[in-house]
Amino acid sequence: MSKEELALIMRALSFAAQKHRDQRRKDPEASPYINHPIALADLLVNEAGVTDVEVIAAALLHDTIEDTETTAAELDEVFGPRIRSIVEEVTDNTQLAKADRKRLQIEHAPHLSREARQVKLSDKICNLRDVAQSPPREWNLGRRQAYCDWAKQVIDGLRGHSLVLESLFDEAYASRPEE
Ligand code: ZN
Repeated sequence: MSKEELALIMRALSFAAQKHRDQRRKDPEASPYINHPIALADLLVNEAGVTDVEVIAAALLHDTIEDTETTAAELDEVFGPRIRSIVEEVTDNTQLAKADRKRLQIEHAPHLSREARQVKLSDKICNLRDVAQSPPREWNLGRRQAYCDWAKQVIDGLRGHSLVLESLFDEAYASRPEE
């Protein structure tokens, strides 16, 4: 990895940490939110062998537009058009109702770029692992199972491009919560 690439990764990590600084995860420990983007980047590098630094940076930034006041224009200015566009591809329209957002993720999955598929896969793998290992306290078994089945519908729409990530997803889905 070049000095410039390492600098980009650290810039994305610092930017995301700053943007998510007041947010917590929904797990029982209310972990710092930044742990989630870090988990995606860690998975991409250390489990899937992804070496595209812009994909790794986009993974670190993937929830900034959706969950903080960050704008696409801001990402474009700081990180350039390719990272901005990957993040935009994996961003839900938060103006819509939850059910519509969930349906649109399934509908949009087959149209995602290869880079966005990698980020989407790592997001769903991390979320499935969290749902199995440390789900929000108020999520009963039915809700946990419904989440896993919806995530599988999204991923089934984007298969065929990232075989290592797809098999990691299948492993996580096979370990989904059951009675
Ligand atoms: Zn996420």
